[in-house]
Amino acid sequence: MPGRNIKIKIFRHDSSDPESEPHYDTFNVEEKPFMSVYLAMDEIQTNQDPSLLYDICCRSNVCGSCAINVNGQPMLACKTLTKDLPDEFTLEPLRFFDHIKDVAADKGRWFMEMTKRVEGWIHTSKHFNEKLENLQSEEERMDVYEAERCIECGICLEGCGAAQLNEDYLGPAGLNRAYRFIMDTRDERNLDSMAEQLFTEDGIFGCEAMLGCRNFCPKEIPLPEHFGTLRRRIIARVLKGK
Ligand code: SF4
Repeated sequence: MPGRNIKIKIFRHDSSDPESEPHYDTFNVEEKPFMSVYLAMDEIQTNQDPSLLYDICCRSNVCGSCAINVNGQPMLACKTLTKDLPDEFTLEPLRFFDHIKDVAADKGRWFMEMTKRVEGWIHTSKHFNEKLENLQSEEERMDVYEAERCIECGICLEGCGAAQLNEDYLGPAGLNRAYRFIMDTRDERNLDSMAEQLFTEDGIFGCEAMLGCRNFCPKEIPLPEHFGTLRRRIIARVLKGK
């Protein structure tokens, strides 16, 4: 039995081509069982328009590359099934990041800059035997586990009002990265050494608690809880200072 006919309106534009005019193209696709938005775009690219550009890598909700706006809401194209969408829907790139072409955006540059800002790697003066694992206790691992699950999809930034208004704001993904290393017992930095990045309007005080990050994060990382912990630690540090 043929599947539902779906109409997909897709944003088209090549940012590297000065002649390119932003516009939308509409495609008709026959829905297949368990068809994801990614598979619908694949069907269009394979059989209707090979020039359509989108990002995809793992196709299984672990790499974050296929984040896209579906009817104005950010989500993963590989995780979103067409059966959960209306007969007609619109696909657009994430607006927070530099646009490349069609629905592809350059998230890599933002995440690389953010990693440099928060120095997102373990700082330690300890020397390790490379042949041995540096084991942590179960409790210590659990402190970083949730934050570590971030797949750098950028959806929280797209859904964050504060990040849209302040381009220097670290945003939910950046604050989560800072939290991940603050909680790691192997990292010798303390809060003070991250003060320049964290204790400002571009850091933790830029969060307006609108909770878009929590609502959209496809990995359901408890971002507001992480930011609450950061705030409590900062307050405790200030009180201690007095
Ligand atoms: Fe994506 Fe969630 Fe990581 Fe934000 S915190 S980049 S929404 S996985």
